[in-house]
Amino acid sequence: MSFSSLGLSEQLVRATTDQGYDTPSPIQAQAIPAVLSGKDVMAAAQTGTGKTAGFTLPLLQRLAEKPRTGKGPRALILAPTRELAAQVHDSVNLYSKYIPTKAAVVFGGVKINPQMMKLRKGLDVLVATPGRLMDLYQQNAVRFDEVEILVLDEADRMLDMGFIRDIRKILALLPAKRQNLLFSATFSNEIRTLAQGLLDNPVQVEVAARNTAAESIKQSVYPVDQSQKTALLSKLVRDNGWEQVLVFTRTKHGANRLTQKLERDGITAAAIHGNKSQGARTRALAEFKQGDIRVLVATDIAARGLDIKQLPQVVNFELPNVPEDYVHRIGRTGRAGESGHALSLVSADEGKMLAGIEKLIKKQLPRKAMEGFEPTNNLPLKPKAKADPSKARGRNGNGGGNGRPGGKPRSAGARPGGRSGGRSQNGGGQRGRSAARQSG
Ligand code: AMP
Repeated sequence: MSFSSLGLSEQLVRATTDQGYDTPSPIQAQAIPAVLSGKDVMAAAQTGTGKTAGFTLPLLQRLAEKPRTGKGPRALILAPTRELAAQVHDSVNLYSKYIPTKAAVVFGGVKINPQMMKLRKGLDVLVATPGRLMDLYQQNAVRFDEVEILVLDEADRMLDMGFIRDIRKILALLPAKRQNLLFSATFSNEIRTLAQGLLDNPVQVEVAARNTAAESIKQSVYPVDQSQKTALLSKLVRDNGWEQVLVFTRTKHGANRLTQKLERDGITAAAIHGNKSQGARTRALAEFKQGDIRVLVATDIAARGLDIKQLPQVVNFELPNVPEDYVHRIGRTGRAGESGHALSLVSADEGKMLAGIEKLIKKQLPRKAMEGFEPTNNLPLKPKAKADPSKARGRNGNGGGNGRPGGKPRSAGARPGGRSGGRSQNGGGQRGRSAARQSG
């Protein structure tokens, strides 16, 4: 199969060839013809599947079929974070290099005036984070009456970050007749409700089974005491000669602390999270990509939207509170057909989180041991082993991780900890805006 056999124009195919893509990824093979046909699309796709090109290429082709008459935008792409928005914008520019389509990106945390100027000049594709887009709308800097195509990218993360109000406001302002594309890594009930109200008889696209991690990713767990994690990480980086490793922590503070400790250990590292300025984040990412920094330490939300090609190694320094985030995190490795390795340093107090993850991905992760780093507190295999050490014997027993008693999934709205800070990462700061007239 080739990009041209999917119905893409010669100019767009040439742009993919320039990127070194020879075959469409599975999501592209399904999404491109669906979007070209003008239908609404609901796609379950993680980062790393090639989803961005999956919606961008056909969207560009549809726009190129007739020229813009007004100032636009004619396609609106909403993304949860600045990083993702910037990255999608880069993709739009790459893929549209042989067609006259114009694109711009707007997000919070930077000056609004230059964005207003860009909008005034007219454009076809606008990539935006929801908060900043509403600010621009309220300042009459953007109109939506020419929008023909709407894309919600990483819709699950937008809801996690509290953007539902802004999204609903934006939806209410768009022309009723338009094409809607919704991409999400996971499908909670909240996402399904949003999709029901938004999509008209959508083509459903799904590549990997829901919530299963890509097969190409080797995953393992090192049980280790919390106090030994930094030393173990340093050792792993050195022993394995890792030159580019993305490390996840649960908190911004934790990311900073770990970065400092690694630096003290002589390992170049930088932290990327919402308290860092946009400039600092971009710089850290660039240095990491160039190989000047060996370890990039990130929080979940900041990592969302980082596009790093062929990242061989991801480490969970701490497990995420939400099992789905584990799937997102390890999706950073083994991208677009490459194989990757995801390794988790897990202390006894994280046993429950590990069980939740293993339940979600429906497999038990192999445990590894490093001499000198054996934990004093064993990792319980079954959650809530009720502090009975004799129970720890079944460690490699029956398929493991069978979740909490009663097997109740955690509700999508009840995410513990670490989430509320996410919103500010977008720099929009429109929390207090009234949701008047809003039906949702
Ligand atoms: P995405 O899932 O959109 O974040 O894309 C993941 C990565 O895969 C990006 O670095 C893309 O440049 C790359 N990519 C997208 N489509 C293809 C393809 N058909 N062949 C090879 N790489 C691709």
